Amino acid sequence: MKFVEEYRDPVAARQFAEAISHTVTRPWTLMEICGGQTHSIVKYGIDELLPKEVTLVHGPGCPVCVTPLELIDKALQIAAQPGVIFCSFGDMLRVPGSSRDLFSVKAAGGDVRIVYSPTDAVRVAAQNPDKPVVFFAVGFETTAPANAMSVFQAKQMGLKNYSILVSHVLVPPAMEVILGSPDNHVQGFLAAGHVCTVMGFEEYEPLAKKFKVPIVVTGFEPLDLLQGIYMCVSQLEQGRFEVENQYARAVRRAGNRPAQELVAKVFRVVPRKWRGIGEIPQSGLGLTPEYAQFDAETRFGVSEYTAQEDPECISGLVMQGAKKPQDCTAYGKRCTPDHPLGAPMVSSEGACAAYYRYRRLREPEPADAGSQRRG
Ligand code: SF4
Repeated sequence: MKFVEEYRDPVAARQFAEAISHTVTRPWTLMEICGGQTHSIVKYGIDELLPKEVTLVHGPGCPVCVTPLELIDKALQIAAQPGVIFCSFGDMLRVPGSSRDLFSVKAAGGDVRIVYSPTDAVRVAAQNPDKPVVFFAVGFETTAPANAMSVFQAKQMGLKNYSILVSHVLVPPAMEVILGSPDNHVQGFLAAGHVCTVMGFEEYEPLAKKFKVPIVVTGFEPLDLLQGIYMCVSQLEQGRFEVENQYARAVRRAGNRPAQELVAKVFRVVPRKWRGIGEIPQSGLGLTPEYAQFDAETRFGVSEYTAQEDPECISGLVMQGAKKPQDCTAYGKRCTPDHPLGAPMVSSEGACAAYYRYRRLREPEPADAGSQRRG
């Protein structure tokens, strides 16, 4: 398949790994931002191809994972209301709320529908004018234009029964929190290529300068990742702190201006709470006053609801690169894909799901696995 197979060539991958080995002279810790990159790294064993001096840690780039528990609970409250049609991408349905998930609402008779685009939800709203239709608008900058388009279209069409539950977050403020932490040990970033297709990479330049970190916009295939690591390590070895673009086949410096303009028309930058991290100023998107009528939180009266995350789930530390999934005492025991405690265990971009899927069979038995089996 064009644009896939040539980026998975094992001979070229080994050549990149050798080039990294020849470049590195001391230890470096790099963070890949995106959960899709994490899955590729774990699936293809890219971290195991690298010299021991290079450590990869995983960042907060899984949108499902960073959605706080209280927003999942709000979705559940709305979806369970009689007559409501609740639309979502499929990966949100198994994310646990405080006491259940969207699948269990559906099983109990709720009208929860999986859609493949927010504009599908607009179509559902047009076909069901007597029912409230809500779309769960979760994501980073990548999905913001499509979600903005759904609201824009709904307004154009005069739909009064459509609204969105917004959980939009922005990457650069989260990077700033990680870099500003006194415990930070990340020295270079692989920025998420798909986010930059929309936003470009100009806004990373002040971050690279302020914190003296190289940031390499990187794709998702094995060779993309290895080349991004090579570019990042080369900068570190040379004492450079620049923003470079490995993913030039998809990303331009200025990004997609029409998409940015649509997002700026429908959304404004607001503080957002991140799962396991807490509120980060100016780190999310909310609807502008012109589109506030499409805000599901206000429409269904759930704005003030809050919830406590499970204290055993260390997903906040995993998503800031401070811990790996296996460091969590619940990993593979009380938290599995069938019985998740946290979103990173069920999201297709979650680090815990990646380790469980691709690495679990190689890991030593958990210390209390026997007692659990006896129970
Ligand atoms: S293994 Fe489960 S409980 Fe532990 S950090 Fe991951 S999602 Fe949370």
